[in-house]
Amino acid sequence: MPNETFTNQILNWQVSTNLIRGGLNRSNFEETSEGLFMSSGFVYETAEKAQRAFEGEEERFIYSRFSNPTIGIFEDRMALLEGAQNCRATATGMAAVYASLAATLKAGDRLVASRALFGSCDYVCRQLFPRHGVETVMVDGTNISEWERALRKPTSAVFLETPSNPQLDIIDLSAVSEIAHKAGARVIVDNIIATPIFQKPLMLGADVVVYSSTKHIDGQGRAMGGCIITNDSEWAMGDLNQFLRHTGPALSPFNAWVHLKGIETLKLRVEQHARSAQLIAEFLENQTNVERVLFPGLDSHPQRALAKKQMAGPGTVVSFDIVGDRSEAFKFLNALNMIDISNNLGDSKSLITHPATTTHQRLSPEARSGVGITDSMVRLSVGLEDPLDIIEDLESALKKI
Ligand SMILES: *Cc1c(COP(=O)(O)O)cnc(C)c1O
Repeated sequence: MPNETFTNQILNWQVSTNLIRGGLNRSNFEETSEGLFMSSGFVYETAEKAQRAFEGEEERFIYSRFSNPTIGIFEDRMALLEGAQNCRATATGMAAVYASLAATLKAGDRLVASRALFGSCDYVCRQLFPRHGVETVMVDGTNISEWERALRKPTSAVFLETPSNPQLDIIDLSAVSEIAHKAGARVIVDNIIATPIFQKPLMLGADVVVYSSTKHIDGQGRAMGGCIITNDSEWAMGDLNQFLRHTGPALSPFNAWVHLKGIETLKLRVEQHARSAQLIAEFLENQTNVERVLFPGLDSHPQRALAKKQMAGPGTVVSFDIVGDRSEAFKFLNALNMIDISNNLGDSKSLITHPATTTHQRLSPEARSGVGITDSMVRLSVGLEDPLDIIEDLESALKKI
């Protein structure tokens, strides 16, 4: 529930200020830090007041599956960060992806999605929705003529991820949004890899942005969470609100509070992650044991010009192919001393994974090679350690292959 005065107070603030004060809604105790309201429900002075609350005549907190003061601050802060009217928090990033699609699609509808998707998003689009009577069409997101062809028929939703995980392909958000809108589609963008600091899909024409706040927003590998952000208030207050209220993918107030503390340092952290990622990508490009480096901040990136146009920074993830095959990639991972083998990303700790056997193992070998995920590819989520220590660890492991 938005605090009435907050929007007027802070719309003029700079990003860094909103990250710290956006949505602040203090209780009667006048606490400095955001209050943590670990309460499932709320009480009513009289039966009449309870009745009025349920009739929607009095805007107040009823039950934390619907809304909660701590979650409300998180939602308002994320909406401000994105420059949007509405934000709804969810228990995980996948809950945000699923809810945004489920509150849009019904049997007989059509969904067009980019092929280069996070493993679970791929499952939701290609397997789950078709089971419920939705026709799903997958396209190569970097190829505009494939979007044009797929969107000749009326379509209800377009779903894409840019940069994609783990190959970091960049999709032209303005061009795809324009084509999608002509087909009547709601454009839903997974902006997790880009982060809200480096890319603003709503300003480029998208209708909905989804985040896993588990990643950079928490930033310290502690709590799961997600959110759905949009300027389509009719949908947010209608179908989306009904879906969330009655199916219950609600965020825990505790996790919302953890993520609120994470957001305060989001810009500082993400910018440092990106500076280190740039140094590391440039280092890797000069290593003989590295075949190919994928990073939107390198001139060698296939969509470098588009990355510069639609992103304010290159991101925090570097993917690269080791010379050799899966066994060389495994030897390299096992030889690392500091960087941890883990499938998470956006953490202060540097984490590395082998997508073909972890996050994307469910895809068939053909599907993986179709989206450019090789058996020798590793994905590094660059942490906040000193970049010299990260580079030293990479260098010594590369020598041991
Ligand atoms: C992690 C991730 C998700 C899912 O988020 P969870 O919080 O793990 O549910 C979706 N898309 C991308 C690109 C991700 O990296």
